[in-house]
Amino acid sequence: MTGAKTLLPGATIGVMGGGQLGRMFAVAARRMGYFVHTFSPDKNGPAAQFSDQATTAAYDDEEAVRRFAGAIDVLTFEFENMPAATIEWASHQQLVRPKGAILLTAQNRLREKEFLAGAGFPVAPFRRIANSSELTQAIEAIGRPAILKGAAFGYDGKGQQRIDPETELAAVWEGREDELCVLEAVIDFEKEISVIAARDPSGATAVFPVSENIHRNHILDLTLAPARIEERVAAAARELACDVAEKLDLVGLLAVEMFLKSDGELIINELAPRPHNSGHWTIEGCVTSQFEQNVRAVCGLPLGSTGLLRPTAMVNLLGDVWQGGEPHWPAALEEPNVHLHLYGKHQPRPGRKMGHLTAVGETVEAAVESARRARERLALN
Ligand code: ATP
Ligand code: MG
Repeated sequence: MTGAKTLLPGATIGVMGGGQLGRMFAVAARRMGYFVHTFSPDKNGPAAQFSDQATTAAYDDEEAVRRFAGAIDVLTFEFENMPAATIEWASHQQLVRPKGAILLTAQNRLREKEFLAGAGFPVAPFRRIANSSELTQAIEAIGRPAILKGAAFGYDGKGQQRIDPETELAAVWEGREDELCVLEAVIDFEKEISVIAARDPSGATAVFPVSENIHRNHILDLTLAPARIEERVAAAARELACDVAEKLDLVGLLAVEMFLKSDGELIINELAPRPHNSGHWTIEGCVTSQFEQNVRAVCGLPLGSTGLLRPTAMVNLLGDVWQGGEPHWPAALEEPNVHLHLYGKHQPRPGRKMGHLTAVGETVEAAVESARRARERLALN
């Protein structure tokens, strides 16, 4: 189902997925007077803890998906890596924003790259790879270094292999039998940035200030905003994100991860049609947070101002922070401009996103320093 329907406070928003993005979405939606019903295979996860109602069922449980979709007024997603059938069952039953086709594009790197390249958006040179001989040919065409990525269900750099000049190709393909992959050229970038755009059912867009992202072990570690880039480049990045949202005919939120080269060229790395880790800073840093904006877009309310309040930095808290025991929360919060966000996850496994800290500052450098210092202080005893 589609349409320009407006959902007013009092309506029930369904959310597929049960993680921290759903949790922060639920906080924003409930604050605005909506009811939130989440669907997740995991019982009492981060989103369920903040929802009015939670369905715990598998994504391939057709009856549960249909019953859930029938019990809400609009459906959105905090997670796109679910079976196509789940999205189809839900779409038959209910208004889905963003529409299912966008999720199918974004959940598969190959479809995503083909969509972007086909629409003329800048992406790294890439090839579709289904077997070892295609890999050999593609390496000839693309050159080294390159990165081989599984086409489906990747996150936090999982399922990625770098192919350097000395890498043995046969070894790379082992263990990947029959898996559809994408080979892409390694981009020699100066910075990684991301832009979050919102688009409402009437086609109006609003775009947040550009985030600058620093990864550690393929996982986002630090986001600072506004990104330390030329205004001209920031404007181009924001325009690019809006253009992609437009081309997708998106209703909701779209995060666009980009590489910025030293000559100012922008290359799109990935899309996420939902709130994004690199936009958590907007909760404290912007007039409207990405989560409130998502609620507004999905419900057909006017979009809020994306104006920057103050320079802001966000550091992720991975399970590793728990290695020496319970982190020292009061020590981190002795930084008075730091805010704590914990996701209510019970098992602090290494690499698992457990929460984040946000710091605002007079300058972005000061915000980064506060956020990092606060995180370091968690280890104090
Ligand atoms: P996430 O879900 O956390 O965004 P992911 O598994 O989808 O991660 P990518 O975003 O594709 O993975 O890649 C993770 C990181 O690896 C990128 O942020 C970037 O640092 C690096 N990377 C990926 N592709 C390239 C490339 N073509 N050139 C250079 N670096 C790359
Ligand atoms: Mg990524």
